[in-house]
Amino acid sequence: MAKTRLMSMNEANCLFCKIVSRDITTEFVAETANTLAFWDIAPLAKVHLLIIPKQHHRDVAELAKNAPAILSEVLKTATDLADTFTSGSFKLQFNTGADAGQTVFHAHAHIISDSVKDGS
Ligand code: 5GP
Ligand code: ZN
Repeated sequence: MAKTRLMSMNEANCLFCKIVSRDITTEFVAETANTLAFWDIAPLAKVHLLIIPKQHHRDVAELAKNAPAILSEVLKTATDLADTFTSGSFKLQFNTGADAGQTVFHAHAHIISDSVKDGS
């Protein structure tokens, strides 16, 4: 495996790590030094984006504890995209834990909105 560093088993099996490494192809809508954003494959609204840290953290609680500056970057990317694609009314959601509906255990923010920005 031609990776620059060894991956943990979590990362090796993680869908969003495979998107970060481009092993799974997805159309990106934004990229910053530490974040990526792309359209949710099963949108719940007219605008449904996912914003992820490039680093693997299992959920937002772990991200906040271990890398708060990167969480801040996730929030900045998310709100910038909400500004681009919505009228300013949107939900910003982090499902955390299986009982709360988390299905991909790599921290991610959802931007969800039916209030689409005029002209986008
Ligand atoms: P969670 O339920 O963990 O908060 O959110 C995971 C999200 O990832 C779901 O909304 C689901 O539709 C989305 N998702 C799952 N697999 C893929 C994929 O391969 N590509 C994209 N773009 N989204 C995915
Ligand atoms: Zn991951």
